[in-house]
Amino acid sequence: MIRLTGGRVVDPASGRDELADLLVEDGRIVDSATTRDETVIDASGYVVAPGFVDLHCHLREPGFEDAETIASGTRAAAAGGFTTLCALADTQPTTDTGSNVESLLTQARRDAVVRVLPVGTTTKQRQSEELSEMADMAYAGAVAFSDSDRAVRKTSLMRHALEYSLLVEKPIASHAEDAELVDGGVMHEGALATVLGLKGVPRQAEEIAVGRDLALAQLTGGRLHLAHLSTAAAVSQVRDAKARGIRVTAEVSPHHLVLSDEVVSLKMYDTNARTSPPLRSPTDAAALLAGLKDGTIDCVVSDHSPRRWIDKACEFDQALPGISSLETAFGLLMRLVHAGVLSLSELLSALTYRAARAWDLPYGTLSAGAPADVVVLDPDQAWVVDPDRFFSKGRNTPLAGQTLRGTVLLTLANGNIVYRNGL
Ligand SMILES: [Zn+2]
Repeated sequence: MIRLTGGRVVDPASGRDELADLLVEDGRIVDSATTRDETVIDASGYVVAPGFVDLHCHLREPGFEDAETIASGTRAAAAGGFTTLCALADTQPTTDTGSNVESLLTQARRDAVVRVLPVGTTTKQRQSEELSEMADMAYAGAVAFSDSDRAVRKTSLMRHALEYSLLVEKPIASHAEDAELVDGGVMHEGALATVLGLKGVPRQAEEIAVGRDLALAQLTGGRLHLAHLSTAAAVSQVRDAKARGIRVTAEVSPHHLVLSDEVVSLKMYDTNARTSPPLRSPTDAAALLAGLKDGTIDCVVSDHSPRRWIDKACEFDQALPGISSLETAFGLLMRLVHAGVLSLSELLSALTYRAARAWDLPYGTLSAGAPADVVVLDPDQAWVVDPDRFFSKGRNTPLAGQTLRGTVLLTLANGNIVYRNGL
Protein backbone atom coordinates (compact mmCIF):
# COMPACT_ATOMS: atom_id res chain seq x y z
CA MET A 1 0.00 0.00 0.00
CA ILE A 2 0.98 3.61 -0.48
CA ARG A 3 0.38 6.41 2.02
CA LEU A 4 0.60 10.01 0.80
CA THR A 5 0.98 12.07 3.93
CA GLY A 6 0.17 15.64 4.83
CA GLY A 7 -0.90 16.99 1.44
CA ARG A 8 -3.79 19.31 0.63
CA VAL A 9 -6.29 16.78 -0.70
CA VAL A 10 -8.54 18.40 -3.32
CA ASP A 11 -11.33 16.22 -4.70
CA PRO A 12 -13.77 18.35 -6.72
CA ALA A 13 -16.21 15.43 -7.11
CA SER A 14 -17.00 15.50 -3.39
CA GLY A 15 -16.06 19.10 -2.63
CA ARG A 16 -13.33 17.84 -0.32
CA ASP A 17 -10.43 20.25 0.28
CA GLU A 18 -8.43 19.54 3.43
CA LEU A 19 -5.04 18.55 4.80
CA ALA A 20 -5.12 14.77 5.04
CA ASP A 21 -3.37 11.51 4.26
CA LEU A 22 -4.46 9.53 1.24
CA LEU A 23 -4.24 5.74 1.28
CA VAL A 24 -3.95 3.46 -1.72
CA GLU A 25 -4.27 -0.30 -1.58
CA ASP A 26 -4.72 -2.91 -4.32
CA GLY A 27 -5.06 -0.19 -6.93
CA ARG A 28 -7.86 1.64 -5.14
CA ILE A 29 -8.35 4.58 -2.82
CA VAL A 30 -9.19 3.29 0.67
CA ASP A 31 -10.25 4.84 3.98
CA SER A 32 -8.13 2.49 6.02
CA ALA A 33 -5.63 -0.11 4.98
CA THR A 34 -5.61 -3.79 5.88
CA THR A 35 -1.93 -4.37 5.14
CA ARG A 36 1.06 -2.74 6.81
CA ASP A 37 3.48 -2.82 3.91
CA GLU A 38 3.68 0.90 3.53
CA THR A 39 5.37 3.11 1.01
CA VAL A 40 5.16 6.49 2.66
CA ILE A 41 5.48 9.58 0.48
CA ASP A 42 5.55 12.97 2.14
CA ALA A 43 3.22 15.26 0.19
CA SER A 44 3.13 18.05 2.73
CA GLY A 45 3.18 21.47 1.11
CA TYR A 46 1.69 20.04 -2.07
CA VAL A 47 -1.71 19.38 -3.63
CA VAL A 48 -3.04 15.83 -3.90
CA ALA A 49 -5.73 15.57 -6.58
CA PRO A 50 -7.38 12.99 -8.85
CA GLY A 51 -5.45 12.10 -11.99
CA PHE A 52 -6.58 14.20 -14.94
CA VAL A 53 -9.17 12.80 -17.35
CA ASP A 54 -8.56 13.74 -20.99
CA LEU A 55 -11.48 13.36 -23.39
CA HIS A 56 -9.42 14.37 -26.44
CA CYS A 57 -5.97 13.06 -27.24
CA HIS A 58 -4.16 11.80 -30.34
CA LEU A 59 -1.84 8.85 -29.73
CA ARG A 60 -1.06 8.24 -33.44
CA GLU A 61 -0.75 4.46 -33.02
CA PRO A 62 -1.50 2.41 -35.11
CA GLY A 63 -0.12 3.86 -38.31
CA PHE A 64 1.84 6.95 -37.36
CA GLU A 65 4.31 5.61 -34.81
CA ASP A 66 6.98 8.04 -35.96
CA ALA A 67 4.83 10.83 -34.47
CA GLU A 68 3.77 9.05 -31.25
CA THR A 69 3.11 5.60 -29.82
CA ILE A 70 0.86 4.37 -27.06
CA ALA A 71 4.02 3.81 -25.01
CA SER A 72 5.46 7.32 -25.51
CA GLY A 73 2.10 9.12 -25.40
CA THR A 74 1.00 7.52 -22.15
CA ARG A 75 4.37 8.30 -20.55
CA ALA A 76 3.90 11.91 -21.61
CA ALA A 77 0.43 11.74 -20.05
CA ALA A 78 1.83 10.42 -16.76
CA ALA A 79 4.37 13.25 -16.69
CA GLY A 80 1.57 15.73 -17.30
CA GLY A 81 -0.71 14.33 -14.59
CA PHE A 82 -3.18 12.61 -16.95
CA THR A 83 -4.29 9.11 -15.96
CA THR A 84 -7.16 8.57 -18.39
CA LEU A 85 -6.81 9.29 -22.11
CA CYS A 86 -9.61 9.06 -24.65
CA ALA A 87 -7.76 8.26 -27.87
CA LEU A 88 -9.14 9.72 -31.08
CA ALA A 89 -9.52 7.54 -34.15
CA ASP A 90 -7.49 9.35 -36.81
CA THR A 91 -5.09 6.44 -36.94
CA GLN A 92 -4.27 3.97 -39.73
CA PRO A 93 -6.40 1.90 -39.68
CA THR A 94 -9.02 4.13 -38.12
CA THR A 95 -10.88 2.79 -35.09
CA ASP A 96 -14.17 2.03 -36.81
CA THR A 97 -14.99 -1.60 -35.98
CA GLY A 98 -15.37 -3.59 -32.78
CA SER A 99 -12.22 -5.56 -33.55
CA ASN A 100 -10.23 -2.34 -34.05
CA VAL A 101 -11.39 -1.20 -30.62
CA GLU A 102 -10.31 -4.55 -29.16
CA SER A 103 -6.88 -4.42 -30.77
CA LEU A 104 -6.31 -0.88 -29.50
CA LEU A 105 -7.21 -2.03 -25.99
CA THR A 106 -4.91 -5.06 -26.33
CA GLN A 107 -2.07 -2.83 -27.45
CA ALA A 108 -2.76 -0.45 -24.55
CA ARG A 109 -2.71 -3.32 -22.03
CA ARG A 110 0.77 -4.14 -23.28
CA ASP A 111 2.29 -0.67 -23.69
CA ALA A 112 0.30 1.96 -21.80
CA VAL A 113 1.21 3.25 -18.34
CA VAL A 114 -2.12 5.08 -17.94
CA ARG A 115 -5.67 4.14 -18.95
CA VAL A 116 -6.48 4.41 -22.67
CA LEU A 117 -10.12 4.51 -23.73
CA PRO A 118 -10.87 4.26 -27.46
CA VAL A 119 -13.04 6.79 -29.26
CA GLY A 120 -14.44 5.14 -32.39
CA THR A 121 -15.19 6.93 -35.63
CA THR A 122 -18.67 8.26 -36.32
CA THR A 123 -18.48 7.29 -39.99
CA LYS A 124 -16.59 4.48 -41.73
CA GLN A 125 -13.00 5.51 -42.48
CA ARG A 126 -14.06 9.03 -41.40
CA GLN A 127 -15.41 9.45 -44.95
CA SER A 128 -18.87 10.86 -44.12
CA GLU A 129 -20.46 8.22 -46.38
CA GLU A 130 -22.01 5.76 -43.93
CA LEU A 131 -22.17 5.29 -40.18
CA SER A 132 -19.52 3.11 -38.59
CA GLU A 133 -20.34 0.07 -36.45
CA MET A 134 -21.13 2.05 -33.33
CA ALA A 135 -22.95 -0.69 -31.42
CA ASP A 136 -20.11 -3.20 -31.96
CA MET A 137 -17.57 -0.60 -30.94
CA ALA A 138 -19.52 0.42 -27.85
CA TYR A 139 -19.78 -3.24 -26.85
CA ALA A 140 -16.02 -3.63 -27.31
CA GLY A 141 -15.28 -0.60 -25.13
CA ALA A 142 -15.48 2.59 -27.19
CA VAL A 143 -16.54 5.48 -24.95
CA ALA A 144 -17.63 7.96 -27.64
CA PHE A 145 -17.62 8.46 -31.40
CA SER A 146 -15.88 11.12 -33.42
CA ASP A 147 -14.43 11.60 -36.88
CA SER A 148 -11.57 13.25 -35.02
CA ASP A 149 -10.31 16.34 -36.82
CA ARG A 150 -13.12 16.26 -39.39
CA ALA A 151 -16.74 17.27 -39.06
CA VAL A 152 -19.32 14.79 -40.39
CA ARG A 153 -19.89 16.57 -43.65
CA LYS A 154 -23.32 15.18 -44.53
CA THR A 155 -25.98 16.74 -42.37
CA SER A 156 -28.37 13.77 -42.76
CA LEU A 157 -25.62 11.41 -41.62
CA MET A 158 -24.89 13.53 -38.56
CA ARG A 159 -28.60 13.39 -37.78
CA HIS A 160 -28.52 9.57 -37.90
CA ALA A 161 -25.35 9.48 -35.81
CA LEU A 162 -27.08 11.50 -33.10
CA GLU A 163 -30.14 9.23 -33.29
CA TYR A 164 -27.82 6.27 -32.89
CA SER A 165 -26.13 7.89 -29.90
CA LEU A 166 -29.39 7.31 -28.01
CA LEU A 167 -29.23 3.56 -28.68
CA VAL A 168 -25.58 3.13 -27.71
CA GLU A 169 -25.78 5.72 -24.92
CA LYS A 170 -22.50 7.34 -25.94
CA PRO A 171 -21.88 10.90 -27.11
CA ILE A 172 -21.05 11.94 -30.65
CA ALA A 173 -18.07 14.27 -30.43
CA SER A 174 -17.91 16.80 -33.21
CA HIS A 175 -15.05 18.83 -34.64
CA ALA A 176 -17.49 21.62 -35.36
CA GLU A 177 -15.87 23.51 -38.18
CA ASP A 178 -17.36 24.15 -41.63
CA ALA A 179 -14.68 22.83 -43.98
CA GLU A 180 -16.05 24.80 -46.93
CA LEU A 181 -15.61 28.02 -45.06
CA VAL A 182 -12.19 27.06 -43.66
CA ASP A 183 -11.21 26.73 -47.33
CA GLY A 184 -7.49 26.38 -46.75
CA GLY A 185 -7.27 29.01 -44.00
CA VAL A 186 -4.41 28.51 -41.56
CA MET A 187 -4.88 31.03 -38.75
CA HIS A 188 -7.56 33.17 -37.13
CA GLU A 189 -9.04 35.61 -39.63
CA GLY A 190 -8.27 39.03 -38.26
CA ALA A 191 -5.84 41.91 -38.38
CA LEU A 192 -2.80 39.77 -37.54
CA ALA A 193 -3.49 37.31 -40.37
CA THR A 194 -3.69 40.26 -42.75
CA VAL A 195 -0.40 41.67 -41.49
CA LEU A 196 1.30 38.28 -41.74
CA GLY A 197 -0.19 37.60 -45.15
CA LEU A 198 -1.72 34.30 -44.05
CA LYS A 199 -5.15 33.05 -45.09
CA GLY A 200 -7.62 33.31 -42.23
CA VAL A 201 -10.33 31.05 -40.84
CA PRO A 202 -13.33 33.19 -39.88
CA ARG A 203 -15.03 32.57 -36.54
CA GLN A 204 -18.17 31.82 -38.53
CA ALA A 205 -16.66 28.50 -39.66
CA GLU A 206 -17.19 27.32 -36.09
CA GLU A 207 -20.42 29.22 -35.50
CA ILE A 208 -22.11 27.63 -38.54
CA ALA A 209 -21.04 24.10 -37.62
CA VAL A 210 -21.95 24.49 -33.94
CA GLY A 211 -25.33 25.88 -34.98
CA ARG A 212 -25.97 22.91 -37.27
CA ASP A 213 -24.93 20.34 -34.68
CA LEU A 214 -27.00 21.96 -31.94
CA ALA A 215 -30.04 22.05 -34.22
CA LEU A 216 -29.56 18.35 -34.95
CA ALA A 217 -29.14 17.56 -31.25
CA GLN A 218 -32.44 19.33 -30.62
CA LEU A 219 -34.12 17.47 -33.49
CA THR A 220 -32.95 14.04 -32.37
CA GLY A 221 -32.57 14.38 -28.61
CA GLY A 222 -29.16 12.78 -29.17
CA ARG A 223 -26.00 13.33 -27.18
CA LEU A 224 -23.70 15.89 -28.72
CA HIS A 225 -20.21 16.74 -27.50
CA LEU A 226 -18.47 19.73 -29.05
CA ALA A 227 -14.70 19.45 -29.34
CA HIS A 228 -12.24 22.25 -28.61
CA LEU A 229 -14.42 25.37 -28.85
CA SER A 230 -12.48 28.43 -29.96
CA THR A 231 -14.89 31.35 -30.34
CA ALA A 232 -16.98 33.61 -28.15
CA ALA A 233 -20.00 33.02 -30.40
CA ALA A 234 -19.81 29.24 -29.91
CA VAL A 235 -19.78 29.72 -26.14
CA SER A 236 -22.98 31.78 -26.40
CA GLN A 237 -24.59 29.19 -28.65
CA VAL A 238 -23.83 26.37 -26.21
CA ARG A 239 -24.94 28.43 -23.22
CA ASP A 240 -28.25 29.13 -24.93
CA ALA A 241 -28.66 25.49 -26.02
CA LYS A 242 -28.06 24.20 -22.50
CA ALA A 243 -30.62 26.67 -21.16
CA ARG A 244 -33.12 25.22 -23.64
CA GLY A 245 -32.43 21.68 -22.44
CA ILE A 246 -30.46 20.41 -25.45
CA ARG A 247 -28.16 17.53 -24.51
CA VAL A 248 -24.77 19.00 -25.24
CA THR A 249 -21.40 18.98 -23.55
CA ALA A 250 -18.35 20.96 -24.62
CA GLU A 251 -14.61 21.09 -24.11
CA VAL A 252 -11.78 23.58 -24.52
CA SER A 253 -8.04 23.04 -24.95
CA PRO A 254 -5.37 24.71 -22.77
CA HIS A 255 -4.01 26.61 -25.76
CA HIS A 256 -7.35 28.02 -26.88
CA LEU A 257 -8.03 29.05 -23.30
CA VAL A 258 -4.67 30.67 -22.49
CA LEU A 259 -3.01 31.61 -25.78
CA SER A 260 -4.18 33.65 -28.77
CA ASP A 261 -3.25 34.40 -32.38
CA GLU A 262 -0.72 36.88 -31.02
CA VAL A 263 1.59 33.88 -30.50
CA VAL A 264 1.79 33.33 -34.26
CA SER A 265 2.77 36.94 -34.76
CA LEU A 266 5.15 37.29 -31.80
CA LYS A 267 6.98 34.12 -32.64
CA MET A 268 7.35 35.00 -36.31
CA TYR A 269 5.32 32.37 -38.10
CA ASP A 270 6.07 29.64 -35.55
CA THR A 271 4.40 26.62 -37.15
CA ASN A 272 4.06 25.13 -33.66
CA ALA A 273 1.32 27.69 -33.04
CA ARG A 274 -0.74 26.37 -35.93
CA THR A 275 -3.76 24.52 -34.59
CA SER A 276 -7.17 23.45 -35.86
CA PRO A 277 -9.33 25.35 -35.06
CA PRO A 278 -6.82 28.21 -34.98
CA LEU A 279 -5.78 30.11 -31.86
CA ARG A 280 -8.15 33.06 -31.83
CA SER A 281 -8.24 36.52 -30.31
CA PRO A 282 -7.76 37.38 -26.62
CA THR A 283 -11.48 38.33 -26.57
CA ASP A 284 -12.40 34.80 -27.61
CA ALA A 285 -10.08 33.33 -24.98
CA ALA A 286 -11.79 35.50 -22.34
CA ALA A 287 -15.21 34.23 -23.45
CA LEU A 288 -13.98 30.63 -23.30
CA LEU A 289 -12.80 31.22 -19.74
CA ALA A 290 -16.16 32.71 -18.77
CA GLY A 291 -17.84 29.69 -20.36
CA LEU A 292 -15.64 27.30 -18.41
CA LYS A 293 -16.35 29.11 -15.15
CA ASP A 294 -20.14 29.15 -15.56
CA GLY A 295 -20.30 25.50 -16.71
CA THR A 296 -21.20 26.19 -20.34
CA ILE A 297 -17.95 24.46 -21.19
CA ASP A 298 -17.76 21.23 -19.23
CA CYS A 299 -14.07 20.49 -19.21
CA VAL A 300 -10.53 21.09 -20.37
CA VAL A 301 -8.92 18.53 -22.68
CA SER A 302 -5.33 18.33 -23.88
CA ASP A 303 -6.04 17.90 -27.61
CA HIS A 304 -2.51 16.49 -27.53
CA SER A 305 -1.47 16.44 -31.20
CA PRO A 306 2.13 15.27 -31.55
CA ARG A 307 3.69 15.81 -34.97
CA ARG A 308 6.89 14.72 -36.66
CA TRP A 309 9.58 17.38 -36.85
CA ILE A 310 9.32 17.39 -40.62
CA ASP A 311 5.60 18.23 -40.48
CA LYS A 312 6.38 21.49 -38.67
CA ALA A 313 9.73 22.38 -40.28
CA CYS A 314 8.14 24.08 -43.27
CA GLU A 315 6.16 27.13 -44.33
CA PHE A 316 3.32 28.05 -41.98
CA ASP A 317 0.62 27.16 -44.47
CA GLN A 318 2.24 23.78 -45.25
CA ALA A 319 2.59 22.72 -41.61
CA LEU A 320 0.25 20.18 -40.05
CA PRO A 321 -1.81 21.63 -37.18
CA GLY A 322 -1.49 20.63 -33.54
CA ILE A 323 0.46 21.04 -30.30
CA SER A 324 2.16 18.36 -28.23
CA SER A 325 0.41 19.41 -25.06
CA LEU A 326 0.15 16.67 -22.45
CA GLU A 327 3.31 17.71 -20.64
CA THR A 328 2.63 21.44 -20.62
CA ALA A 329 -1.15 21.51 -20.08
CA PHE A 330 -1.11 21.87 -16.30
CA GLY A 331 1.67 24.48 -16.23
CA LEU A 332 0.02 26.52 -18.98
CA LEU A 333 -3.41 26.38 -17.33
CA MET A 334 -1.88 27.46 -14.02
CA ARG A 335 -1.25 30.85 -15.64
CA LEU A 336 -4.97 31.48 -15.18
CA VAL A 337 -4.78 30.51 -11.52
CA HIS A 338 -1.71 32.66 -10.88
CA ALA A 339 -3.44 35.53 -12.67
CA GLY A 340 -6.33 35.17 -10.23
CA VAL A 341 -8.99 34.58 -12.88
CA LEU A 342 -9.57 30.87 -12.15
CA SER A 343 -9.30 29.09 -8.81
CA LEU A 344 -7.19 25.98 -8.40
CA SER A 345 -10.24 23.95 -7.47
CA GLU A 346 -12.13 25.21 -10.55
CA LEU A 347 -9.20 24.15 -12.70
CA LEU A 348 -8.86 20.74 -11.07
CA SER A 349 -12.60 20.19 -11.37
CA ALA A 350 -12.49 20.92 -15.12
CA LEU A 351 -9.57 18.48 -15.53
CA THR A 352 -11.08 15.67 -13.48
CA TYR A 353 -14.63 15.35 -12.23
CA ARG A 354 -16.34 17.53 -14.82
CA ALA A 355 -14.53 15.76 -17.67
CA ALA A 356 -15.48 12.32 -16.34
CA ARG A 357 -19.07 13.39 -15.76
CA ALA A 358 -19.44 14.71 -19.33
CA TRP A 359 -18.99 11.18 -20.69
CA ASP A 360 -20.19 9.19 -17.65
CA LEU A 361 -16.74 7.81 -16.92
CA PRO A 362 -16.20 6.38 -13.41
CA TYR A 363 -12.90 8.23 -12.90
CA GLY A 364 -11.63 11.59 -11.76
CA THR A 365 -12.42 11.22 -8.06
CA LEU A 366 -10.60 10.37 -4.84
CA SER A 367 -13.58 8.78 -3.12
CA ALA A 368 -13.00 5.47 -1.34
CA GLY A 369 -13.22 2.52 -3.71
CA ALA A 370 -12.32 4.53 -6.80
CA PRO A 371 -9.35 3.47 -8.94
CA ALA A 372 -6.24 5.04 -7.42
CA ASP A 373 -5.50 7.61 -10.12
CA VAL A 374 -3.77 10.35 -8.17
CA VAL A 375 -1.48 13.29 -8.86
CA VAL A 376 0.68 15.29 -6.50
CA LEU A 377 1.11 18.84 -7.77
CA ASP A 378 3.30 21.77 -6.86
CA PRO A 379 1.24 24.77 -8.03
CA ASP A 380 4.16 27.18 -7.60
CA GLN A 381 7.28 25.47 -8.86
CA ALA A 382 8.63 27.20 -11.95
CA TRP A 383 10.20 25.28 -14.82
CA VAL A 384 11.33 26.02 -18.35
CA VAL A 385 9.72 24.12 -21.21
CA ASP A 386 12.38 22.08 -23.02
CA PRO A 387 10.77 19.92 -25.74
CA ASP A 388 13.95 17.82 -25.98
CA ARG A 389 13.08 16.49 -22.55
CA PHE A 390 9.51 15.53 -23.44
CA PHE A 391 8.44 11.92 -23.09
CA SER A 392 6.24 12.56 -26.11
CA LYS A 393 7.80 12.03 -29.51
CA GLY A 394 6.08 15.26 -30.53
CA ARG A 395 8.35 18.22 -29.78
CA ASN A 396 5.89 20.62 -31.37
CA THR A 397 5.06 23.34 -28.89
CA PRO A 398 5.00 27.13 -29.14
CA LEU A 399 5.97 27.19 -25.44
CA ALA A 400 9.58 26.09 -25.91
CA GLY A 401 11.88 28.16 -23.71
CA GLN A 402 9.02 29.68 -21.75
CA THR A 403 8.72 29.49 -17.98
CA LEU A 404 5.62 27.82 -16.58
CA ARG A 405 4.71 27.85 -12.91
CA GLY A 406 3.02 24.65 -11.73
CA THR A 407 4.38 21.15 -12.02
CA VAL A 408 3.52 17.48 -11.54
CA LEU A 409 5.60 15.73 -8.87
CA LEU A 410 4.02 12.28 -8.79
CA THR A 411 1.43 10.35 -10.75
CA LEU A 412 -0.29 7.14 -9.67
CA ALA A 413 -2.36 5.23 -12.22
CA ASN A 414 -4.45 2.36 -10.89
CA GLY A 415 -2.31 2.46 -7.76
CA ASN A 416 1.02 2.21 -9.60
CA ILE A 417 3.63 4.93 -9.52
CA VAL A 418 3.96 5.83 -13.20
CA TYR A 419 5.80 9.14 -12.84
CA ARG A 420 7.93 10.58 -10.07
CA ASN A 421 9.73 13.89 -10.21
CA GLY A 422 11.67 14.81 -7.11
CA LEU A 423 9.16 13.66 -4.49
ZN1 LIG B 1 -7.88 16.80 -31.87
